[in-house]
Amino acid sequence: QTSSPPPGFDVAIRTPPYPKLLRKLNEVRGILGADRSLTLAEKILYSHLDNPEESLLTGTNNGKDIRGAANLKLKPDRVAMQDASAQMALLQFMSCGLPTTAVPASIHCDHMIVGERGADVDLPESIKGNKEVFDFLESAAKKYGIEFWPPGAGIIHQTVLENYSAPGLMMLGTDSHTPNAGGLGAIAIGVGGADAVDALVDAPWELKAPKVLGVKLTGQLSGWASPKDVILSLAGKLTVRGGTGFIIEYFGPGVESLSCTGMATICNMGAEVGATTSLFPFSPGHIPYLNATHRGAIAVQAGTIAASPGPRNLLRADQGAQYDQVIEIDLSTLEPHINGPFTPDLSTPLSKFKETVETNGWPTTFGAGLIGSCTNSSYQDMTRAEDLVKQASSAGLSPKSDFFITPGSEQVRATLERDNTLDTFSSAGGVVLANACGPCIGQWKRTDEVKKGEANAILTSYNRNFPARNDGNRATMNFLASPELVTAMSYAGSTTFNPMTDNIPGTDFKFQPPKGQDLPTAGFATGNPDFLPTPGKPDASVEVQIDPKSTRLAVLEPFAPFPNNELSGLSVLYKVKGQCTTDTISAAGPWLKYKGHLPNIAENTLIGAVNAATGETNTAYDADGSSCGIPELAKRWKAAGREWLVVAEHNYGEGSAREHAALQPRYLGGRIILAKSFARIHETNLKKQGVVPLTFVNEADYDAIDACDEISTHGLLDTLRSGGQGSVTLRLKKRSGEEKTIETRHTLSKDQCGFVLAGSALNLLAMAARE
Ligand code: SF4
Repeated sequence: QTSSPPPGFDVAIRTPPYPKLLRKLNEVRGILGADRSLTLAEKILYSHLDNPEESLLTGTNNGKDIRGAANLKLKPDRVAMQDASAQMALLQFMSCGLPTTAVPASIHCDHMIVGERGADVDLPESIKGNKEVFDFLESAAKKYGIEFWPPGAGIIHQTVLENYSAPGLMMLGTDSHTPNAGGLGAIAIGVGGADAVDALVDAPWELKAPKVLGVKLTGQLSGWASPKDVILSLAGKLTVRGGTGFIIEYFGPGVESLSCTGMATICNMGAEVGATTSLFPFSPGHIPYLNATHRGAIAVQAGTIAASPGPRNLLRADQGAQYDQVIEIDLSTLEPHINGPFTPDLSTPLSKFKETVETNGWPTTFGAGLIGSCTNSSYQDMTRAEDLVKQASSAGLSPKSDFFITPGSEQVRATLERDNTLDTFSSAGGVVLANACGPCIGQWKRTDEVKKGEANAILTSYNRNFPARNDGNRATMNFLASPELVTAMSYAGSTTFNPMTDNIPGTDFKFQPPKGQDLPTAGFATGNPDFLPTPGKPDASVEVQIDPKSTRLAVLEPFAPFPNNELSGLSVLYKVKGQCTTDTISAAGPWLKYKGHLPNIAENTLIGAVNAATGETNTAYDADGSSCGIPELAKRWKAAGREWLVVAEHNYGEGSAREHAALQPRYLGGRIILAKSFARIHETNLKKQGVVPLTFVNEADYDAIDACDEISTHGLLDTLRSGGQGSVTLRLKKRSGEEKTIETRHTLSKDQCGFVLAGSALNLLAMAARE
């Protein structure tokens, strides 16, 4: 059943521009040849090219080897921003001086809301504590015609799925889990604010054409297995780097059995394997979801396109489409998995988990089970968890661990409230948190007795589990699982409990496999009208609110252009050992409040990074042997006019689209990051901020470099001036006086060279807007 749409709901502005996309697809087929079969990902991406000929026929690819080679210049249909990253995106957009955004955009206030004592207390306190930031975002949204979803409305990815994602759409989101929208057939890519600004000002957004990894699904899920287990097991196969440079495209008969929100969960966590994005073809599960979310008109149009013969079918892969790699998963035999700790790709089937816990000496009890978040808060997820809670409650049992529930949106929350699901959770002792990120992004004040540094476990249905992410304690082991498993295991409070086979310890109670409902029988409730968005109409008379004395918001000062010479005398600020995520480079948690104030948030730069020489965290050494925190040394060097570089290992910047991880080093005087490899989004973010990412030709050269060594570049200026042609060599001068040449690689495109030369991408855009 479908309920009435909320006031002001306009399906027309939420419908992808299908006629235009079909024309573009036709143009693309004309260029590539009618006999060329395309994957779904290629169809949607290439039909968003600004100028298909320029992207597909230039350079060496000549219409043949596009994937992994061509630089696609794309015109996305829409932009979504969460409150933490929107601040910097908007500050950057404002400096371009335009009256409105070029494409529809939305802002979602979700990251800055704590989860502690329940929504009724946490939400008002969070609004009070972040008032000036929310006021800034709302005023900027009103001025520039951006839909503003206030605190309490929900988590960006859930709101996008309910309102904006649609088959064939292409959108950018300033959050790494933006691919969640691929569950509804969109190409949705997580980017930094500077990339979002490209789309907001109508500049083409550049992406190296991804390869396409096909995941063929067969069979059908049943019992305890859930969509989350598809991606948890895939993460184990691919590892955190396995999806880098790929779009993951799901296909096969198993797709037809999945709910739309289940597909979104799978796409959401494609971010954990480094994929550019993930998506599903237009599927039976999309139609009831679009109808239930008041977008039946989109379902009709998409259905017609998906049923049309060969060349005009934008929403399914062509017969014979070739994937660069194919992985097959049989849903009928898929077992629930638990991933972690500390990395989302450490995947263990449930039947082996007890043994794995014992072998590794991981805690056998856990303090909290947390379900929901942007990954797993659908009606289906929550009603399956509810079924388990009801089973346990009727046996007189209560959860042994703390139990927290985060609804992903007001629509889901209000519907679950109406249908008594939340009451079931609360009656069992669960705490329903605000419709916001809360504990998933470190906005969680734990009330149990765990001390900092004390090893302990939590179980969550979230997507990410880097050290310290949830509670600031690097020793907390976050194990990722489906909401069903988290719920059932919370009743045992034990990591060695297997709800598929074991009785709850000390009882003769055994759970039956969970049952739920994909969508609410009575349709979705709208909920609190205060949580509806402001209309996306620009109003030039609105004044954007930034207090010049604010410690939370600061107008951006442009970075200086690249000098007319090579870089010389750069000092190695820090040599990082091991994993270096965007959390490591720019921590979240309490630092989220400074997202709009670059000088203040720069105080957390690299504070999670491990010193390769000493094994210490956030301990840097100056040339005289004195030690201090990394930000302190960077500031000292900046004040002395001494520019620097960081040396690192593999997948530098993995984890998120957080552009502060690029902005902060640049602001503090960082010029180069020299790593064994980079995470895609972060590498792009560095270039946009004028920092040059280089990788070692010979990885063993990492060992030759130490902190405070001096580096000068050779060939960098020519490379930049020639639009990326040429190579860059580094001349290393050790403190002993010894010298060595280090060969490097770069991935600078012509446009990205322009960013570095101008000082940043924003400098270039601002120049273009002024012309
Ligand atoms: Fe929020 Fe966590 Fe989802 Fe990120 S992953 S959007 S922090 S709920």
